[in-house]
Amino acid sequence: IGPGAGFRTGGDHMNLKELDLRHLIHNEVRFRELARKGTTVITRAEGSTIWDIDGRAYLDAQAGMVLVNVGYGRRELGAVAAAQMERLMYYHTYFQYSNEPAVRLAAKLASLAPEGLGKVFFTLGGAESVETAVKIARLYQRARGRADGHKIICLDLGYHGNSLGALSATAFEAHRAYYGPLVPGFVHIPSPDTFEGPFRADDPEAGRKYAALLEERILAEGPETVAAFLAEPILGVGGIIVPPDDYLKHVRRICDKYGVLLILDEVMTGFGRAGTMWACGQFGVVPDLMCTAKGLTSGYLPLGAVLVGDHVIEAIAEADFPFEHGFTYAGHPVSCAVAMENIAILEREGLAERAARMGERLKEALLARDNPYIAEVRGRGLMVAAELVRDRETRERFPEGNRAFRFDVEAGCLREGVITGIAPYRDTLMITPPLVITEAEIDRLVDVYDRVIRQEGDRRRKQG
Ligand code: PMP
Repeated sequence: IGPGAGFRTGGDHMNLKELDLRHLIHNEVRFRELARKGTTVITRAEGSTIWDIDGRAYLDAQAGMVLVNVGYGRRELGAVAAAQMERLMYYHTYFQYSNEPAVRLAAKLASLAPEGLGKVFFTLGGAESVETAVKIARLYQRARGRADGHKIICLDLGYHGNSLGALSATAFEAHRAYYGPLVPGFVHIPSPDTFEGPFRADDPEAGRKYAALLEERILAEGPETVAAFLAEPILGVGGIIVPPDDYLKHVRRICDKYGVLLILDEVMTGFGRAGTMWACGQFGVVPDLMCTAKGLTSGYLPLGAVLVGDHVIEAIAEADFPFEHGFTYAGHPVSCAVAMENIAILEREGLAERAARMGERLKEALLARDNPYIAEVRGRGLMVAAELVRDRETRERFPEGNRAFRFDVEAGCLREGVITGIAPYRDTLMITPPLVITEAEIDRLVDVYDRVIRQEGDRRRKQG
């Protein structure tokens, strides 16, 4: 079977693109612009490469939506799904009921989780994991007698999903603009961004200072009104922002001081993406709740999970508060069986360590190019960011005008057959390929990025 098999010829092929525009509502688009540009229908994938309906190959440096950790085309995951479908394709986890793959996966996740996170609630993805963690945090505070403990403090560059609760945790104005009123009780503080934020990488106190902003906010809100602090340990969509090493430790201390729960959103960072199973371990911190999704199944089926501290569930049980929460598909046996096998692959092939190794290679190779338009390269594992600027010395950015620099870089990479991530609201390149990416593919990525960034940067500079 060749690339795009089944849709290569004439009618069928045109028909599909037309049907797409006519009927399928895409995520995060402007409808008129999409109609002008047309759509790209992906039909096949293998390893780190995807093919579109016209037979064109792309090296996917974004791993889908930053989730295809074990790479595309793993036949064994299809086999596991088929076998589970034949045996038991669905049973729920409401009331006293459950199913074998959900139980086995919950136990497996508890064994992988940081110490003390022994309870697992399944969802269908990141946003539902965040919604669930927020609800459990509020329930917990009420259970221990804090009737008004409802506020959730979040980071201003955090991204937590597009459902209304998760969106309320997300501060990006462009995402929120037309959807208000949002859910009350979410407040935002500055992110630990040492490239553009108030405290920079050369300040040894930056971690403590950023954490102090959390303490100030808790005090300003009233500690008894705050249920939790919610953050990504390394911010993803916001631009792969790696906090100072000691930031989360200070955050943990402050949360404990005021009885505020710490929810870490490891939806993007988890399952080896940042070079270890979880990112929080790299900062020596254990959260009270942890949101996961994406790499849990590497995208082979939809699934998310919230890992919850035993003490949190114990407090709710102790107060005998009801847990009125759930989703029809929570603990779906086919998704859970596939997640189990996906984790087995991650472990068997040492993909977290591989991500750490490949990430170092990528960063070193990119830095070695000495690209005049790259002011910083950073990241952990295969979550790598490059800050794109007009002037490396002053860190001045190109004016955004009609079209920001990052969009031209993205388009240039695409012309060279590379799909890259970019931060939505600043000139930050995001490089997050499958963890199985080969050394040769890393080298090709570096070539393409360096060439395209120089071309597009030179072109902009000439334009003045
Ligand atoms: N949290 C984080 C950190 C994410 O990166 C994402 C998705 N990019 C989400 C939550 C939302 O996940 P989903 O799209 O599966 O709802």
